[in-house]
Amino acid sequence: MSEKHQLATQAVHAGEPHDPSGAHVAPIHQTSTFTFADAAAVESYGNGETAGHMYSRGSNPTRQALAAKIAALEGFDYPGSEPVTAEIFGSGMGAISAALLGLTKSGDHVITQRALYGSTDHLISDVLPNYQVTNTRVSLLDPDLLEQELAAHPETTVVYLETPANPTMTVIDIARTAELAHAHGAKVVVDNTFATPILQRPLTLGADVVVHSTTKYINGHGTVLGGAVVSADAEFMDTGAGSMIRFVGAVPSPFDCWLTSIGLKTLPLRMKQHCSNARVLAEFLEDHAKVQTTLWPGLASHPQHALAAQQMDDFGAMITIDLGSYAAATQFLDGLSICSLAVSLGNVDTLVEHPASMTHRVVPPEDRAASGITDGMVRISVGIEDAQDLVTDLESGLANI
Ligand SMILES: *Cc1c(COP(=O)(O)O)cnc(C)c1O
Repeated sequence: MSEKHQLATQAVHAGEPHDPSGAHVAPIHQTSTFTFADAAAVESYGNGETAGHMYSRGSNPTRQALAAKIAALEGFDYPGSEPVTAEIFGSGMGAISAALLGLTKSGDHVITQRALYGSTDHLISDVLPNYQVTNTRVSLLDPDLLEQELAAHPETTVVYLETPANPTMTVIDIARTAELAHAHGAKVVVDNTFATPILQRPLTLGADVVVHSTTKYINGHGTVLGGAVVSADAEFMDTGAGSMIRFVGAVPSPFDCWLTSIGLKTLPLRMKQHCSNARVLAEFLEDHAKVQTTLWPGLASHPQHALAAQQMDDFGAMITIDLGSYAAATQFLDGLSICSLAVSLGNVDTLVEHPASMTHRVVPPEDRAASGITDGMVRISVGIEDAQDLVTDLESGLANI
């Protein structure tokens, strides 16, 4: 694919090998191993003279096709001269753990924000310390505080961030974080799950590595779990995170990769509808008397609205509201009918969840409070249904309080 093609064209065409049989849609290579014609073919594959595959944990054509599509999107306007590549994992956590294992060794330090995706939080707080990889938290990675923390921890190798962050929708300045981290020799990893490469391309903003839960918007239909690590750092992709697919083995099935590739083709189109529906809902919720707070980066009232407008091409479709109490939140949820009560996000269907009883249930109440997560919060992953039907559904929920 030529770099001249726009994102919507890349989403449809990138990484679509034309199969020798003439199949229009790339086939599913549902196979564990690959045969070689003869010993000479093994030799030339082994020397890197011919491309190919040997065993599906290391590489598989269906996985490779999806990786090429994601790399094309995340690398869309990347100014660097090195090619952006991707590896696909069996889940977002498979990708995130590979990225962190690939960038740290005993004695290293990780700096991250306070509110993180729950399992990422556990990995950094509870698992990495078992291998003498320590961490500290800086609220919103505030540049002055981050600078102090980097100076206090010269052994920092990774600054890890999520923006917009879950579930508070706070926005972190990727370019500024990268500048500070690089001045101290640390790499920046960005979880780009909420924004997707259609709205935000962290590598172009100076980040070193992008991670995704492809389970969410990239697949978009709620059918499979998956993850991706994306970077222009060839060594990291070869012997760092990339090697973790072989040595830790969070390998996705070819069928799951194929479903994700099909879903990814409509990502640019879906994101337009997700974002425009989110604007309608956010404006409706912000004006409603029973809603105390509406957090959506596209609202002028959002504390980092200007930053979001600068670093994102649109504001995404994750909205968090505060209804004031645990009881109000659950009454609201029980009054909805189109919106499904479920964790996860980024599906074509609208999903709502209550962080205090669902995604953040196991987080101690004082830690939830420190991260700005209240009992009355409800997170809405706005789908692509008709916006007015969704408003009517939210009205029913609010009438139930
Ligand atoms: C879901 C999610 C993950 C984890 O992904 P899985 O595919 O569930 O393993 C990581 N980060 C964010 C922001 C997520 O929403």
